[in-house]
Amino acid sequence: MWDALFINARLATMADAGYGLIDDGAVAVKDGRIVWLGAMAALPAPAAELAAVVHDEAGRLLTPGLVDAHTHIVHAGERCSDFVLRNGGAGRNEIAAAGGGVRGTMYQTRATSDEALYEQTARRVRELIAHGVTTFESKSGYGLDFETELRIMRVSRELGRRLPVTVRSTFLGAHGVGPEYDGRPDDYVAFLARTVLPAAVQQDLVDAVDGFCDRLGFNHAQIGVLFDAATAFGLPVKLHADQYNEFGAGAVVAKYKGLSADHLEYASEATVRAMAEADTVAGLLPGANWTLLETARPPVELFRRYGLSMMVATNNNPSSSPTCSPTMMMNMATHMFRITPEEALLGFTRVGAKALGLAADRGTLERGKVADFAVWNVAHPAELSYRIAVNPCRRVVKDGAVIYDAPPLHIAERAGRA
Ligand SMILES: [Zn+2]
Repeated sequence: MWDALFINARLATMADAGYGLIDDGAVAVKDGRIVWLGAMAALPAPAAELAAVVHDEAGRLLTPGLVDAHTHIVHAGERCSDFVLRNGGAGRNEIAAAGGGVRGTMYQTRATSDEALYEQTARRVRELIAHGVTTFESKSGYGLDFETELRIMRVSRELGRRLPVTVRSTFLGAHGVGPEYDGRPDDYVAFLARTVLPAAVQQDLVDAVDGFCDRLGFNHAQIGVLFDAATAFGLPVKLHADQYNEFGAGAVVAKYKGLSADHLEYASEATVRAMAEADTVAGLLPGANWTLLETARPPVELFRRYGLSMMVATNNNPSSSPTCSPTMMMNMATHMFRITPEEALLGFTRVGAKALGLAADRGTLERGKVADFAVWNVAHPAELSYRIAVNPCRRVVKDGAVIYDAPPLHIAERAGRA
């Protein structure tokens, strides 16, 4: 007897080409794992005899639960004031002078209690879940001091404990130089590598290490210090890479056989080749291009030619990507980056899981994998990329249990009409 059986669904397994589609399919769950999937006609007995609970999905699309592999979701406050300034033509320096920018969020986050930080973030995480996400990555990087960086990672862990979602915690102390180290980036990086990271490891708060490697950020040698420390602790690495200029940052990740290099608008062919050899994922974050009116595009044709896997993520952050909508990012990535709707969905499922080192357990519908699904009010998976700013997510299943059902859209007709 199975714990639950989801019947009459169109399955996008994402395990094979063409979305791995199984029309008129069913998925069975036991102890939180997928134990059977296939065509309805292949079910060994009538559904009611096979499982304790049967969910009829009435022909809707059922995909793996989405994996959002790049977020800065733990932060205090919003940055609508930055948005208004930017909209009026202000640049980075003017926004910073007005108390905005990364430092604005950093000061707010430092001044916010653990519980308030958790509550503010949990609202965003619930929104992500309601958009089909069952696993996400959460970066630190709005503390830039010992105490707050650890607090942010503690909140990331707490989110995974208290909410029905899997969270991977990434240490991004090298998001920018903490104000206490202004003008001393080498000292700041040494502090991250020798003091903050070891404490995070000791308290079991961290699953990966990230940095901002750019002419405006940290150079190769500084990232090397941090990555050497990560490697010594057995932690995988990733980078914000080649976003504003060609900096060879993707190749730095590849040298460490890192999980992913993200942004990559200015990545060179040599960088792409190095990433392909290391099997490092290319992370596409179209929300930032949209918000910053960036016209440079990640070299998708090169990624394809070298066989790189492409991840797509919300990049949830209060400045350049204030969104909890994976399907909106899929729409943007298909339009602006010219990836296919299939590549976009792969980017949020199979490749998203790979970018977090979770491919063995998540990202596709296959026997033995964790039973994390999303059910959608669409007939074909390409529709997930097609629609603009609607949330077609109907139901979310985590570890085999239904954790969210979208409320019915009920608008009564006017009374009293003949
Ligand atoms: Zn980022």
